[in-house]
Amino acid sequence: MAEQPKEIIVQGIGVSPGVVVAKAFLLTTEDDRFVEREIAPDEIPREVARFEDALIETRRQIHEIQQKVSTAIGQENAGIFDAHLLVVDDRAFVEEVIRGLNAQHRNVEAVLHDVAERYADALARIEDDYLRERAADVRDVTRRILRNLSGKSRSEILETEEPCVVVANDLAPSETATMDKEKVVAFATDLGSPTSHTAIMARALGIPAIVGLHDVSVRVSEGDEVLVDGSKGVFIVHPSRERLDRYGQEVENRKHIESELARLKDESAETRDGYMVLLSANIERPEDVNSIEAYGAQGVGLFRSEFLYLSRENLPNEEEQYSVYDEVARRLAPDPVIIRTIDLGGDKFLSHMRTAPEMNPFMGWRAIRFCLAQPDIFKTQLRAILRASVSENVKIMYPMVSSADEVIQANALLEEAKDELRSEGGRFNEDVDVGVMIEVPSAALIADLLAPHVKFFSIGTNDLVQYTLAVDRVNERIAYLYRPTHPAILKLIKNTIDIGHEHGIWTGICGEMAGNPLMVPLLMGLGADEFSVSPSLVPMVKDVIRNLRYAQAEELAAKALASESPKEVLDLCRDLTQEIAPEIIQLIE
Ligand code: PEP
Ligand code: MG
Repeated sequence: MAEQPKEIIVQGIGVSPGVVVAKAFLLTTEDDRFVEREIAPDEIPREVARFEDALIETRRQIHEIQQKVSTAIGQENAGIFDAHLLVVDDRAFVEEVIRGLNAQHRNVEAVLHDVAERYADALARIEDDYLRERAADVRDVTRRILRNLSGKSRSEILETEEPCVVVANDLAPSETATMDKEKVVAFATDLGSPTSHTAIMARALGIPAIVGLHDVSVRVSEGDEVLVDGSKGVFIVHPSRERLDRYGQEVENRKHIESELARLKDESAETRDGYMVLLSANIERPEDVNSIEAYGAQGVGLFRSEFLYLSRENLPNEEEQYSVYDEVARRLAPDPVIIRTIDLGGDKFLSHMRTAPEMNPFMGWRAIRFCLAQPDIFKTQLRAILRASVSENVKIMYPMVSSADEVIQANALLEEAKDELRSEGGRFNEDVDVGVMIEVPSAALIADLLAPHVKFFSIGTNDLVQYTLAVDRVNERIAYLYRPTHPAILKLIKNTIDIGHEHGIWTGICGEMAGNPLMVPLLMGLGADEFSVSPSLVPMVKDVIRNLRYAQAEELAAKALASESPKEVLDLCRDLTQEIAPEIIQLIE
C-alpha cells in the first residue's frame, strides 16, 4: 500500500468561511512562476519528487508538440524538439539540480533556474553557431519545467473535470469575480488580506478562501489533496484520515448552527428590546441579488458597480448599465439599493485603459478622483443610475471623497445629467438620495462640512482603517497592524455618526467591520443606523443583533471609547458575543 504523504499545515488568514477538501489546481501567471524560498532538510525528498514529476510532464508535453508539428508541417520541422528532449534527458543537468537542492536548501524552482542560467550562459559563449543556439533551448525547456512545477493557466481551469481548490501566489479581484463556482470550490493565496477585493469577492461567491499563506503556491504540487478551512485560515496538504474525520464532525456541527440561523431569514434586525437597524448587503454583480434574497438582507447598502467595468475590453455603455441597475432595483423594491459610482484604481484596474502605473495606487487616481477627471465616463454612469431611479429605492453614493469640493463637483455633474435627461424627456426620480462614503480620515473629520450636501453617510471601514493606520489593506506582511478596533478608528466612526445625526442624516457602515459579528454590538452602541455586509454574513449579524439588548451595546461602546488598545476593545467585543451568542463564536473560531 502506498505510504500516506506527510501532512503539511500552513496557517494563513481565513477570509471566507467554510471547509472544503479537493485537489489543488496551481494557477500561475508569467510573473509569479518564480517564487524562491528556503526549505528544511526533510523537505528535500519532496522537492526532488516534484522535480522528477515536472520532468516527466515536460517530456510528455514535448512529445505531444512534436507529434502535432510533424502532422501539421512535416517531420523535419519537428526535429528541433529533439534538442529540447536532450535537455530534459541530460543526466548531468538533472543531477546538478539535485545536488544543488541538497547543498543549498532552496526550493527546486530557485535551484533549477540558477543551474539553467549557468548552462545557457556557458553555451552562449561558445564559438559555434549550433551550440550557441542550444542556449535558447535550455532556457525554453527550463521555462516549461518551471511552469509544470508551479502551475497552470486560467483557461485550463475550465478543462478540469473535478472541482478544485485554486492555489496561487495572488489573484486579481477581476480573476476571482469570473471564476466558475462549479469548478472552483476554494481559493488559497500567498498574498492578500481580509479586506482585499479578492477576499471580498470570495465571500460574495460564498467560496471558502484563505489568503496570506506566504509561500503556499510553491509548497503544494498540482493535484495534491488539500483541506481548506476558510474560517480558521488553516490550509492542510495531504490531510490524514483522522484529520478528515475530525473535520467531518466540525462541518456537521457548523451545518446545524447554520440551519438554525437560516430560520431568521424573514425576521427583522431588531434587538431584544426593540431597537431596529437596517441590515442590507454588499453586492458586486447583478446575480448577487439571488444571495440577498436567499440570506434575507434588506436591500443593497453598497453595490460595487465597478465590477461591471472589469474583465472586459470596453466600457459598459449607458443602456447596458441601465438594464443592470434597473433589474436590481426592481427585484429588490421597496428595499433600498445604493449604487456606488465606480471605484476604479487601488486594486481594481481596467485592462483596456492603459493608465500609467502608480507608486501608491490606493492613494492615487482612484474612485471619485478618476470620475471627476473623466466626466464623460462618470456622466454615462450617472444617467444610467438616474434612469433606474424611477423605482424609487435607488440611491447614489460617491466613493473616496476627501473634501466637500469633490461632493459639490460630483453633484454639479449629477445636475447636468439630470438636465440632459429632462431635455430628452427621460424619466427619473428628481429627489434621488445622494450620499458619500466616509473612508478617508479627512472626510470623517469634516463630516460637518459634507453633511449639508448629502442625505446619508456610509462608512467604508476597509479604506478608513488603511488610511488612518497607514496599513496597506492588501499587504499580508502588515496584516497584523490592520485593526478596525483601534481607538483612532472608533473616534472617527463616532464623530461621523454623531455629526450625521446632528444634521438629521443617517449613517451606515459598509466596510467589512460591519460583517464581523464580534464588532456589530460595538457599532450599534456607537449609533450606526444601517449595516451592509456580505450576503452570507447576514444570518450571523442578525443573530447577534437579535440576542442583544441596546443598553449592552451602549455600555460596550462607552467602554471601548475609553480603552487604550485595539486588543482591549476586541476582547470586550468577544466577551459580549460569547455571552449573548456563543453559537457565533463556535462558527468563527
Ligand atoms: C470600504 O472601503 O470599506 C468599502 C466598503 O469599499 P471598498 O472595500 O470597495 O473599497
Ligand atoms: Mg473603499
